[in-house]
Amino acid sequence: MTENLIEIKGVTHAYKTASGPLPVLDGLNVSVPEGTFAAVVGPSGCGKSTLTKLVAGLMKPDSGEVWLHGELVKGPRKTVGMAFQNPVLLEWRTILDNVILPLEIVAPKMSKAKCVARAMELLDMVGLVGFEHKRPSELSGGMRQRASLCRSLVHKPDVLIMDEPFGALDAFTREDLWQTMRDLRRAEPFTAVLITHDLRESVFLGDQVIVLSGRPARSQYVMNVDLPEDRTLDVLFTPKAADMLHRL
Ligand code: ADP
Ligand code: MG
Repeated sequence: MTENLIEIKGVTHAYKTASGPLPVLDGLNVSVPEGTFAAVVGPSGCGKSTLTKLVAGLMKPDSGEVWLHGELVKGPRKTVGMAFQNPVLLEWRTILDNVILPLEIVAPKMSKAKCVARAMELLDMVGLVGFEHKRPSELSGGMRQRASLCRSLVHKPDVLIMDEPFGALDAFTREDLWQTMRDLRRAEPFTAVLITHDLRESVFLGDQVIVLSGRPARSQYVMNVDLPEDRTLDVLFTPKAADMLHRL
């Protein structure tokens, strides 16, 4: 039996605002089995980013519990990788040195040669070999997001949490990145939570799609994505995918 890597149990959260509490999540339950790619969809403002912050331990819920790998989440953890819409790469560092950064923090005793080898392995998977000595501003938005994904994965986190990572990219670049994401997972399986409001993205990348609904978000609907493991973008034009997208 596969263990649930993430267990969100009865999580309720409200923000304190000048006009009183703003309830966002109300008794939410979500389980993500180890190795699963969970895509979370829902309308803007429904609490998706709030959910990622709770899972990453950047915020505490008013009530309920978040468990990660059988441990109650009480604060930020090194075993969580994060990626955002606008990746913050350090301009004074090369792409290679940006990707290595988490290793300097999480594994300070790791030799420079080993760090470089690990970073290059990932840069190779995303097609950025040859760009490792460039500065972030010399790369396109899509390339910067590729580099940021490498940085998020370099220390082999238990889970990669991505909050609309491809939202700022044009449609062509975004679809390239979807393919890269699948390649990365094939090369190096990891558990992922992807926040997106692109339904096609959720079905293409996800093993399961979690739909957040209601204000505050309470109930959620989970759909298991039943498409071939080695899917390419063409699969989105099949009747099966059309049916799944319709059900979302
Ligand atoms: P989503 O990511 O799904 O768009 P969020 O989780 O960012 O939604 O936000 C959910 C709701 O909580 C929104 O109405 C948003 O305006 C509000 N909100 C988010 N962060 C804060 C905050 N720090 N203080 C007050 N309200 C917030
Ligand atoms: Mg958000």
